[in-house]
Amino acid sequence: MKNIFLLGATGSIGRQVLSVIRGRPDFKVKALTFYRNIDLGRRIIYEFQPEYVAVGSYDDMMILQAEFPDIVFGHGKDGLINAATYSDDSGYLINAVVGSAGLKPTIAAIKKGRDILLANKETLVMAGEIVIDLVRKYKVKLLPVDSEHSAVFQCLKAGDINAVKRIILTASGGALRNLSRDELKNVTLDDALRHPNWKMGAKITIDSATMANKGLEVIEAHHLFGIDYDRIDTLLHPESIVHSIVEFRDKSSIAQMALPDMRIPIQYALFYPDRSESDLPQLHLESFHSLHFSAMNFERYPLLQIAYQVGKKKGIMPAVYNAANEAAVQLFLKSKISFLEIEAIVASVVNEIKNIDNPTLDDILAVDQRVKDKILL
Ligand code: NAD
Ligand code: MG
Repeated sequence: MKNIFLLGATGSIGRQVLSVIRGRPDFKVKALTFYRNIDLGRRIIYEFQPEYVAVGSYDDMMILQAEFPDIVFGHGKDGLINAATYSDDSGYLINAVVGSAGLKPTIAAIKKGRDILLANKETLVMAGEIVIDLVRKYKVKLLPVDSEHSAVFQCLKAGDINAVKRIILTASGGALRNLSRDELKNVTLDDALRHPNWKMGAKITIDSATMANKGLEVIEAHHLFGIDYDRIDTLLHPESIVHSIVEFRDKSSIAQMALPDMRIPIQYALFYPDRSESDLPQLHLESFHSLHFSAMNFERYPLLQIAYQVGKKKGIMPAVYNAANEAAVQLFLKSKISFLEIEAIVASVVNEIKNIDNPTLDDILAVDQRVKDKILL
């Protein structure tokens, strides 16, 4: 029996986690959280019967508490941490919250000695050094859910990390990949939300269109695999079949392939180190006729280049990049700024803020708040 503590149960990843464990009695959802979507949240509670639930607001908590008197409820930021650390039983924290809200609960769960399945890449981007140190100190497992990182993790079974020449993260190019920079001036929110290969939450869909998502993933890979930035490359691959590649020093490259379906990396992490049967659709390469690859164009996607720069600077700069991007995307999602203003805001904020070497968690959380306030207020 594996206990699951699931943060962000109503989201794209959260729902796919639940679909993988549905009907498998060897998993028990002990605690779950969601932010606002109370109708879907209620159905999930009813189906999975958790012992603890945290929601965004006090009012929603009170409504649900009256409906489910046997369940313990919490709300807000403390509720998220309580869900991550609920009970002394072993199990997996699955962090499928979007944005910086995921950082503190991940840290709290690690300190509890709980293994982590990480979808919330923002956790590692903001505080990679601190999180990886804690993972070592508390001897917990940290397994990637992000498809590229799951791919690299699987490819690394073929050879030692010290024999790796470079890792290559593939990128579909997102919803606007066929537009020139000039054409980007006029794109609408709906255009940017129309991802060709993946159905995901709004924030990551926009991040895919700006390529900030690949930037966040480069930083995530740096921390997860302990590999320096000069050995992390990116490659455009519009079909999203090859999820990433590890190139070894003997010139042999290992790639991981699957249909673009997040349930595959989720299931891999849930059953690791085993591989379980699955009834998910099978990849038939013959139906693709061809797979395409092309070099990443940094001029077309400046937010990817900035991610490398802030990653190499370390300190608080990756958290500044992340916070500026989160806030700018939030404005774009409310139609308050244009698509190209996202990258303009991020570029100007990372130039303005002075770095701090070896920041504490409080330094990181403070700059996250300061940057967001500056952009949103
Ligand atoms: P989503 O927007 O669909 O879902 C987010 C979930 O978090 C929801 O349950 C929501 O209720 C909750 N939430 C939102 N804001 C919150 C807050 N402030 N406090 C507490 N809970 C909050 O997002 P998603 O697409 O499922 O992405 C989740 C994470 O997984 C992100 O970090 C994303 O980058 C990563 N990821 C997603 C995919 C994908 O296919 N969707 C793939 C790889 C990685
Ligand atoms: Mg990814």
